[in-house]
Amino acid sequence: MDIAAAIVAANRHLAAKGLNQGASGNVSVRDGDGFRVTPSGVGADVLVPEQVVRMDMDGAWSGQWKPSSEWRFHRDIYAARPDAGAVVHCHSPAATALAVLGRAIPAFHYMVAIAGGVDVRCAPYATFGTQELSDAALAALEDRRACLLGHHGMIALGPTLSQAMDVAIEIEFLADLYLRLLPLGEPPVLPAAEMAVVLEKFKGYGANAQKRA
Ligand code: 13P
Ligand code: ZN
Repeated sequence: MDIAAAIVAANRHLAAKGLNQGASGNVSVRDGDGFRVTPSGVGADVLVPEQVVRMDMDGAWSGQWKPSSEWRFHRDIYAARPDAGAVVHCHSPAATALAVLGRAIPAFHYMVAIAGGVDVRCAPYATFGTQELSDAALAALEDRRACLLGHHGMIALGPTLSQAMDVAIEIEFLADLYLRLLPLGEPPVLPAAEMAVVLEKFKGYGANAQKRA
């Protein structure tokens, strides 16, 4: 599958799983010295590969379709993070509910390690599409593959689009669990030493694992 078709498929999958609605959210994949990103304001139900926009790192683009209004944080993530091959942004219900409260997701479940650390931070609110939002997101993403965006949604990244999607889907699951637990009181978290073990094991898990020769 070419990059544009993979982006369209990912966007549809997010909508089908209830992680996005309407034209919310955006998806990009690194492409040589630039990247490809979903167009602005086009819903997953009508998006076609021809509308996916190729952008350079200076923000230049060509063609009939305007890139996502969030192209800055997609661009800035590719510039700052060599480990990022794809970026997924969505307004999924549980992650966004936590983001409204400005709450990070703590290590109440070992799968928090999928995002690369002992928590998933929440970036402070900034207007969508701004450099301020991109700066806040990059800070919250330090040493992590996901963050929440205050009063907005979440960002997930990965070496490949399927890994970035796995992170987004898992963070939404964890956010949903956390929201169910909060009314019962702040849930206990795993000890730091155990999370260190889990984080180490994750380096060789699933798509991160090397195939045996
Ligand atoms: P775009 O349709 O411009 O990608 O914007 C959607 C969004 O989620 C803005 O944060
Ligand atoms: Zn958004």
